[in-house]
Amino acid sequence: MAELTELTLKAALDGLAAKDFSAEELARAHLEAIEAANPQLNAFVLTTPEAALEGARRSDARRARGEAGPLEGAALGVKDLFATEGVRTTAASRILGDFKPPYESTVTANLWRDGAVMLGKLNLDEFAMGSSNETSAFGPVVNPWKGRGSNQALTPGGSSGGSAAAVAADLCLGATATDTGGSIRQPAAFTGTVGIKPTYGRCSRFGIVAFASSLDQAGPIAKTVEDAALLLRSMAGHDPKDSTSLPVETPDFAAAVQRSVKGLRIGVPEEYRLDGMAPEIAAMWDQGIAWLKDAGCEIRSVRLPHTRYALPAYYIVAPAEASSNLARYDGMRFGYRGEGRSLSEVYEATRGEGFGAEVKRRILIGAYVLSAGYYDAYYLKAQKVRRRIVQDFETAFQEVDALLTPTAPSAAFGLGERVADPIAMYLNDVFTVTTNLAGLPGLSLPAALDAQGLPLGLQVIGRALDEETVFAVAGALEKAAGFRAKPERWWA
Ligand code: GLN
Repeated sequence: MAELTELTLKAALDGLAAKDFSAEELARAHLEAIEAANPQLNAFVLTTPEAALEGARRSDARRARGEAGPLEGAALGVKDLFATEGVRTTAASRILGDFKPPYESTVTANLWRDGAVMLGKLNLDEFAMGSSNETSAFGPVVNPWKGRGSNQALTPGGSSGGSAAAVAADLCLGATATDTGGSIRQPAAFTGTVGIKPTYGRCSRFGIVAFASSLDQAGPIAKTVEDAALLLRSMAGHDPKDSTSLPVETPDFAAAVQRSVKGLRIGVPEEYRLDGMAPEIAAMWDQGIAWLKDAGCEIRSVRLPHTRYALPAYYIVAPAEASSNLARYDGMRFGYRGEGRSLSEVYEATRGEGFGAEVKRRILIGAYVLSAGYYDAYYLKAQKVRRRIVQDFETAFQEVDALLTPTAPSAAFGLGERVADPIAMYLNDVFTVTTNLAGLPGLSLPAALDAQGLPLGLQVIGRALDEETVFAVAGALEKAAGFRAKPERWWA
């Protein structure tokens, strides 16, 4: 039944509705695929086969009773940053140990409410800090894609590398992910999948392990733009348990994918044309512009003059918030506890042994930029830059309806290639952090293969709460690109 895993989410939902197969068969096919592939890909950190099959049987029963929800029977993966009731949730950190949350995140609860079935929990960078999945306490995820004629193991990107790799390798029909500075979009670009970070506040953060609360946002990684729209519709919605969740209706995103883009004004931000940008990235971007022009869009060059300060501002704001959020891991309430003769020794041992190197680096940077004497020079300054970036977008969106940029400055790179150089790693986020700082929706879709045969992603950025235009533009680009490539199967 291997072919069931090759379906898109939409095709699987249609097949379930037509009774071509059952949710149980669908779940079983995916569980078998995971079992075969995971030793090589390391995308899942935990599978829940009994619960998945049991859940799938309940889904089949609901369908038989005529009570099918919008995602009835969909076999999904969950980034291990979402609290899942009674199921180990680690944030890929030693410090959470064997933590089994007594509650469910709102986003995952919404998916189960709509009939979806969980296959297991997906690998990620520790506390979602990273761009290559190499900071995970479970070891890196391996990208299902390889360069043509090369056997080198590549990163699937990060932090949602498990989500992206699992979707690309057909181990699940779609996955939850989170994006603080690019963690949905960059892995989507590296794996030929579609990922959207919605407007800040569109999805509830309740039950998502916090990294940087003013930037964190959940979203899906999926096989197609339509699949991403279907998943986001279920994930989103106002939640009184998150005070930053927006009290707005959730539109029918899938309907928006089909909308005409004729007459839409598309902005091309000149500041994103970095010096020394890879020619293939520039060519893909130009191709995207040409596709939208052909679809009847009006292309305009726009200025986002503070773009060059976005990355430094992000790498102050995000660690500052992280240092505060991660103060709660003291060995008293959650997971791992180190040994010591006094309270402070236990704290020190717990945090010293429980956190990995990148997380410690972020805590140190965050504590530094927030400390008396440096606060004004760093944190306050970064907040002012953030305001300017918001204003840049506001000005641009007076003239255009959406923006088109590349998602990442390169294709997937080799595992181990950039771990020793944090700055090189942070540069991955140059095109994505701006939308987190401004709270805007951003979507990545696969647009081309580079000379090595690796996927490259285009990013569509929209106005706050205007995911519908983002989906419409992405739908038009997807149609024009006709991207059908799949990684060649080298894993079991
Ligand atoms: N790569 C970025 C970082 O390391 C973004 C991570 C994310 O979006 N969670 O902070």
